[in-house]
Amino acid sequence: MKSSRNLVKPLWLALLALLALVSEMIAWWWAVQLPVGGSRQGPTLLGLGGALCALGAFVWLWRRMSAAKLEARRARQLLASSLDTLDVGVEIWDRQDRLVLYNKKINLMHTLIRKPADIGQTFETLVRADLGQHLIAAAIGREEEWLAQRLATRGRHPEPLLQELAGNQWVNIYENRTPEGYLVTARVDVTELVRKEKVLEAANRRLAQQSTMDELTGLANRRRFDEALANEWQRAARSLTPLSLLMVDIDHFKQYNDNYGHVAGDECLRRVAGVLDHCVRRAGEMVARYGGEEFVILLPGADMAHACETAQKCLQLMQQEIVPHAASPTADQVTFSIGVACLLPDATLEPATMVNAADTAMYRAKSGGRARYEVADQADWEIDKDTPRTRPTPLA
Ligand code: GH3
Ligand code: MG
Ligand code: MG
Repeated sequence: MKSSRNLVKPLWLALLALLALVSEMIAWWWAVQLPVGGSRQGPTLLGLGGALCALGAFVWLWRRMSAAKLEARRARQLLASSLDTLDVGVEIWDRQDRLVLYNKKINLMHTLIRKPADIGQTFETLVRADLGQHLIAAAIGREEEWLAQRLATRGRHPEPLLQELAGNQWVNIYENRTPEGYLVTARVDVTELVRKEKVLEAANRRLAQQSTMDELTGLANRRRFDEALANEWQRAARSLTPLSLLMVDIDHFKQYNDNYGHVAGDECLRRVAGVLDHCVRRAGEMVARYGGEEFVILLPGADMAHACETAQKCLQLMQQEIVPHAASPTADQVTFSIGVACLLPDATLEPATMVNAADTAMYRAKSGGRARYEVADQADWEIDKDTPRTRPTPLA
């Protein structure tokens, strides 16, 4: 119904124009045929009628065009105001990638300000201006490379494009083509989401770290040490390289606690941990808190000479640290005893045998007067893990 009405109007217009043309032609022909001096009233009236028809057609056409323009403007305004209600920044680009339209949100949500003068500018021109002002954080320092990449994938993102802007702002960019070839881009502010994600990631990292870290000393904990020992044991067995382990136990620590209190005891543990941490230098070497006032040092690839050198260095550094221990029968400062175990691991042995051997040697160091190290001998390696160690009697 509507389409037939749409057809009738141009038909009337064409008829009117045709009438005007025919009237003018007949009027002209009539005037030419009239004898000189004859009355020209007829052709004049016909010509006038034709002119009126032409004027009518023109007015009609002009009004139709004005109405069409008004309708187009209204449609555009409706589209713009509808887009302004969205909580998403929207831009529309033509087939030549020139900006056609943008909504207000685009300027509220991020640092890339669009202004009326940008309409008609190409995406590349506008982005170059943004890059010149360092507004796209991800592109800083590699602007040309970034732009080439961005243009190459423009309008072809299967997933939204996450972009970091200046001021720590994050947007997700969706780019979709209309059937007419226009590109509609939607920018969603995801700053809060990214911020929460980062907080969560940091918390997870902290949690993972905490599960492998001893809280009091900041060293690796027993769980991490057990894992490292198992891994290094396998690696050493495969590569036929030696592995060394130092078991470190603070001397007369019970007396230290009894004398200075538990809080001071904790601080003492932290200082001992710091000293031991300074003793290892090579990559892969690890200091861990084994439990209570016991620490372990794992030295992958270290032969007996390097292991003993490390033990000696630890004793020396502890001596230089000078942590007073008035209740110690061994010295007037905190000392520790070390058991050293070194071997070429093989698949027939359990990593726990190494801990046992170092532990047994450490107890021998205690019996030998403390503040020293002892190396695990053959008998120490053969000791069963359930065999109770004889605790040395404190030196008087
Ligand atoms: P030895 O020279 O034979 O090793 O004697 P020791 O007193 O060091 O050994 P013992 O096993 O008798 O005592 C260890 C003490 O370590 C007892 C315990 O209260 C203390 N201890 C264990 N863990 C902590 C801790 O986290 N903080 C504090 N302050 N003390 C601890
Ligand atoms: Mg102990
Ligand atoms: Mg002790």
